[in-house]
Amino acid sequence: MINVLVKCPLCKKSLMDAKNKIDSKPSIAVTMTYAGRNAPLYLSSLYGSYKIQTVINVPRGKIAGFRCLFCKKDLKSSRKCDICGAQMVSFDLWHGGQVQICSRRGCKKHLLEFQDPDIELEAFYKSYLKAFKQQ
Ligand SMILES: [Zn+2]
Ligand SMILES: [Zn+2]
Repeated sequence: MINVLVKCPLCKKSLMDAKNKIDSKPSIAVTMTYAGRNAPLYLSSLYGSYKIQTVINVPRGKIAGFRCLFCKKDLKSSRKCDICGAQMVSFDLWHGGQVQICSRRGCKKHLLEFQDPDIELEAFYKSYLKAFKQQ
């Protein structure tokens, strides 16, 4: 499985949180807003894993807001989920491209987008690993 490394698309700060691990990987930390409350939300950075940690219980089918911990801006993207119609939330990948998730609780829509749409996932994965090792 791909372990995605993401940053805020607006202020470009890393959203990876090594202190709060999920699936034994650093989690993606954001602020979740729902029904007038907000709390930290930790998402698994394994692409395809839906594990999260948060103290706010968002009922299935409800839409939550996602904000950057640093610049506090709303991370919703201009794209709508093609399964349920909710707004997608987008993150920038460290090495180019974007990952988007649906803001509706329980909707499993995830999108991984690359800067060059011709690049196959496998090729991307290899270069991603290489770039990661160089750090
Ligand atoms: Zn930000
Ligand atoms: Zn959806």
